[in-house]
Amino acid sequence: MMSISKGEIMKALVYHGERNIAWEEHPDPKILQPTDVIVKIDTTTICGTDLHIWKGDMPEVEDGRILGHEGVGTIIEVGEGVKNWKVGDRAILSCVSACGECEYCKKGLTSHCMNPEGAKGLGWIFGYMIDGTQAEKVRVPFADTSLYRIPDGVSDEQGCMVSDILPTGYEIGIRDGGVKEGDTIAVIGAGPVGLAAMMTSALHGAKRVIAIDFDDNRLENAKAKFGATHSVNAGDEDWFEQVMALTEGGLGVDVACEAVGVPVTLQNCFKIVRPGGQVANIGVHGAPVEIAMNKYWIQNIRMSMGLVNAVEGERLLQGITDGKFKAENLVTHHFDMNDMMDAYETFRNAKETKAMKVIITQK
Ligand code: NAD
Ligand code: ZN
Repeated sequence: MMSISKGEIMKALVYHGERNIAWEEHPDPKILQPTDVIVKIDTTTICGTDLHIWKGDMPEVEDGRILGHEGVGTIIEVGEGVKNWKVGDRAILSCVSACGECEYCKKGLTSHCMNPEGAKGLGWIFGYMIDGTQAEKVRVPFADTSLYRIPDGVSDEQGCMVSDILPTGYEIGIRDGGVKEGDTIAVIGAGPVGLAAMMTSALHGAKRVIAIDFDDNRLENAKAKFGATHSVNAGDEDWFEQVMALTEGGLGVDVACEAVGVPVTLQNCFKIVRPGGQVANIGVHGAPVEIAMNKYWIQNIRMSMGLVNAVEGERLLQGITDGKFKAENLVTHHFDMNDMMDAYETFRNAKETKAMKVIITQK
């Protein structure tokens, strides 16, 4: 058995199999590669994906894995091959670990980086294939190409939203959805990811942003804080007519973003998109989806989908400093790091607690 001397132990949120996580002692991370840094986590958060792991939906995650792939922290140790960072620098951690050198990284498809540890061709490894950010300290691989500097005026909690949630909504929904100045777009699903898409559509000058969800509270929130100009309750019998009436000539939206991950919402995106428009799928699907190609082939609709690359961090940080959107609006709760289990409890019961993003701080 490994003996752990004092000073080499930290606290971390550790996964021990289905529905079994604990805030417990764990050995400190160590530099393993010259391109690594060790970061003291100042602020972290929980993602829906962590709940998928907790539920046991991702059995490939090993017992003993520290979860979390979002965070802001201070560099406390630097590998000898790291060029851009020094001890004491503060940084935003990207959810994607990108070597920066393989063919995929060079194309901006860091989500398929060929070099991360544990999973060739998968850029997201934090809190999945390697230990993650819900801990006092974390080892960050490929530090030169997987960390962002924190611009003046950007708070830790705003920075935390740039690790994953804002790039997901922006890159997969808005950017890859081809949203243009003056467009009318719809976002189906007003959870954190859908709200991030609505909010960052300001970067592309969308004129009309229609939020669609069952939850009236989330719809009101979308209009009050996330740039939605209109909302439609997906439970209304005439939801489709309501959406079409909000579009130019009643022809449909220019871009329909799917931010739920179930068949009916992707099918609904096809229903409301106009000829020549685009469907941008952000949701993670667990089942095949039937699309009525006999109806849609003639409509010149494009479709995009994918795993976040987290390559647009600089642009998103600029959007925050320019005041184009308020990333902090995604945050609903704050916890001290030692109350990690309460933070999980609150996030897991989002229906009752109305939690969106919970911010966890190490004093
Ligand atoms: P969430 O569960 O918090 O939000 C989903 C919202 O959809 C809820 O508000 C719910 O009321 C609404 N909804 C459910 N069924 C609906 C329906 N039929 N019509 C309209 N609204 C409906 O989820 P989230 O955290 O915002 O994530 C959204 C999706 O994005 C998930 O599938 C998640 O796995 C995925 N995701 C994708 C990536 C990526 O890289 N592509 C990254 C992160 C998350
Ligand atoms: Zn790579």
